[in-house]
Amino acid sequence: MSTATASSTTSAATGYPDVQLFIAGQWRAGKAGETLPVKNPATDATLGHVAVARKADLDEALAAAAKGFDLWRKTPAAQRAKVMREAARLLAERADAIARLMTLEQGKPLVEAKGEILFAVEIIEWFAEEGKRVYGRIAQPRGAGQLMQVFKEPVGPVAAFTPWNFPINQVVRKLSAALATGCSFIVKAPEETPASPAELVRAFADAGVPAGVINLVYGHPAEISEYLIPHPVIRKITFTGSTPVGKQLAAMAGAHMKRLTMELGGHAPVIVAEDCDVERAAKIAATAKVRNAGQVCISPTRFLVANSVRKAFVDSMVAHTRAVKVGSGLEKDTAMGPLANPRRIVAMERLTADAVKHGASVATGGERIGAAGNFFAPTVLVDVSRDSLVFNEEPFGPMAAVWGFDKIEEAIAEANRLPYGLAAYAFTGSLKTAQMLSENLQTGMLWINQPAAPWPELPFGGVKDSGYGSEGGPEALEAYLNTKSVSTLCA
Ligand code: NAD
Repeated sequence: MSTATASSTTSAATGYPDVQLFIAGQWRAGKAGETLPVKNPATDATLGHVAVARKADLDEALAAAAKGFDLWRKTPAAQRAKVMREAARLLAERADAIARLMTLEQGKPLVEAKGEILFAVEIIEWFAEEGKRVYGRIAQPRGAGQLMQVFKEPVGPVAAFTPWNFPINQVVRKLSAALATGCSFIVKAPEETPASPAELVRAFADAGVPAGVINLVYGHPAEISEYLIPHPVIRKITFTGSTPVGKQLAAMAGAHMKRLTMELGGHAPVIVAEDCDVERAAKIAATAKVRNAGQVCISPTRFLVANSVRKAFVDSMVAHTRAVKVGSGLEKDTAMGPLANPRRIVAMERLTADAVKHGASVATGGERIGAAGNFFAPTVLVDVSRDSLVFNEEPFGPMAAVWGFDKIEEAIAEANRLPYGLAAYAFTGSLKTAQMLSENLQTGMLWINQPAAPWPELPFGGVKDSGYGSEGGPEALEAYLNTKSVSTLCA
């Protein structure tokens, strides 16, 4: 496999590369020569360009993935794990350089970018080991000479579609599960943040993943998904992104009977019960809220706070939020960078104006910072009506909306009111309340008295409109496996 660089040219000023496609083991431009600009969200400047794949490129990627699957599925799991561990080692070794690229293209502070990469290392290592524990079984014979076996087999070449908020981690969960089970992979990674996922792929290529097993494309998202999803070579689709796009892709996949994993939007409730440590809850919530500038599918968004502690909670949350240093992710003391694209600024302004129109007050933030770059002040909205958009539409930005309740049952009803069900949080000092919430919240993941900690060994995924399937734990491997039953009369 080629270990050539993912870039054809690199900007002398920023060190940002022009990003190429990776097809059949080669880094190359799109056959049509088309590219898209990549912007720095902190300055609006053009950082470089990313190659666009059209149908002729996708045909090559599909042929390569078909060949790659034949080879990789026959590679012993222990050997696959060895290559994956080497990729993890290379990624860790290159973490500082890749973090800089991620901050340039996505905006998040360097410390978060490096954290994302080191977490990806952990994910690869976990899946590499778990892939060795994919077992079949032998059922009890129904008669003499009967052998009844159950095989677990890789599902086939995978088409993955990943977004810009976690340019590496959105790819690495899918890629690691696919590789660990013996699948080949075509990923359409985000055009807005292409360099860091290219470096992830480069680590695997340099580690010795054979040509064709991993293929990386960028381009026009709908054109690529409409071509890859129905294509007979592709046997499994996995998508992370918004619920409306997820529904479109799921419908297409359904029409072609393809296996699916959908990791979609959320609108995470945070239930703050009156018996919790309010100061600790506010600090955890405020820190979590500004992580990746709130552009996180499991970001805490609807703050449902017991009326008896509401003022204390809001005062503390506002104080913590005001202390957040907003700036370029490259600056050392920055706690929150710009939003990743101008669409998010438009959304924040729209949600703030609508909340105020419905009677909310802006306790802090609520407006754009400066004219250059996509900076928006971390925002806390109080007395928010549940009719306002921010309580119904995923904010996907640094915006917390607070609503008060008297009885915990009201909070549960509000938490379950929306069609989403991805993440939920609760703060309580009562085991009884914790158990009641665990049993009654309609959610894929619940963190109680702690921030989100989506370790690779835990299931990661949602219910209802937040999607289906899991990207963590043994369930994540199951999503890339077919089950085959073989009964043999040996006598
Ligand atoms: P969007 O819905 O246009 O795109 C979301 C992602 O899907 C992008 O990566 C995009 O390239 C991809 N996409 C869009 N249309 C596609 C298609 N037809 N085929 C294949 N891929 C396609 O929204 P956006 O403006 O980029 O992001 C805003 C919303 O997306 C947010 O409000 C949030 O709800 C959601 N989002 C969720 C996640 C997540 O982690 N679940 C990540 C990013 C965005």
